Amino acid sequence: AGRLAGKRALVTAAGQGIGRAAALAMAREGATVFATDVNEAALADLVKAGQPGLEAWRLDVRDDASVREGVNKARPDILFNCAGFVHNGTILDCTDEEWDFAFDLNVRSMFRTIRAALPGMLERGQGSIINMSSVASSVIAAPGRFVYGTTKAAVVGLTKSVAKDFVTKGIRCNAIAPGTVDSPSLHDRLRATGDYEGAMKAFVARQPMGRIGKAEEIAALAVYLGSDESAFTTGQVHVVDGGWAA
Ligand code: NAD
Repeated sequence: AGRLAGKRALVTAAGQGIGRAAALAMAREGATVFATDVNEAALADLVKAGQPGLEAWRLDVRDDASVREGVNKARPDILFNCAGFVHNGTILDCTDEEWDFAFDLNVRSMFRTIRAALPGMLERGQGSIINMSSVASSVIAAPGRFVYGTTKAAVVGLTKSVAKDFVTKGIRCNAIAPGTVDSPSLHDRLRATGDYEGAMKAFVARQPMGRIGKAEEIAALAVYLGSDESAFTTGQVHVVDGGWAA
């Protein structure tokens, strides 16, 4: 019996990075985990880890039919909305296409998954929804993160609204706000600067602890928020950022 024994958890973007670490951590704590992503090769690799209690299949958070099908299959007690994409640039760099894509993947995806999962949670009288925000949001700004920070701030508003409306119905809804975390896409972003080493140094320097975070350190927070240990918290932004926003 782990800390999530008896709970069913649906995790989006579980193919790599924080979502993958969270899916594994939740399964290790006894949850039945449904690890989902659009990257089926990454999911196949995750399944190879051989973690009991975890199954993986394709779910595209940008596709309402895919979301509904996945939620019906998973019937989750824990919904971890982890999918998101980081665009680089200021307001002057952001195209209409990037704006629409960022809001669809980072925010509207949560509208889709939560409206699909909430009726079942309400029927069962319990549910913990965990939404991936970032410290680059309503908490602080990061340079060159215009549309990203805007979407992640919207996630905070969405989270608080859902928390407020269903607080007496056994539903909790919290946001996670990480600082810079080691993940496959982080390395893509560093490479894209053209100066991998320099960019890594700058990313490390802005975290007063002198290092970037590990996906497992964010996964631990997701486990806590999914578990009954966190039964008294809802509607909050849980920052885990090595002291960046302190
Ligand atoms: P990542 O960016 O390396 O991987 C993202 C995953 O999302 C990929 O597996 C990708 O296939 C999946 N994905 C993309 N589109 C999808 C879709 N339509 N449906 C389902 N899955 C889709 O992982 P990461 O860096 O750990 O980021 C995960 C989340 O954490 C994101 O929301 C990100 O904004 C947030 N975050 C990351 C950091 C960081 O520094 N890494 C910091 C703060 C917040």
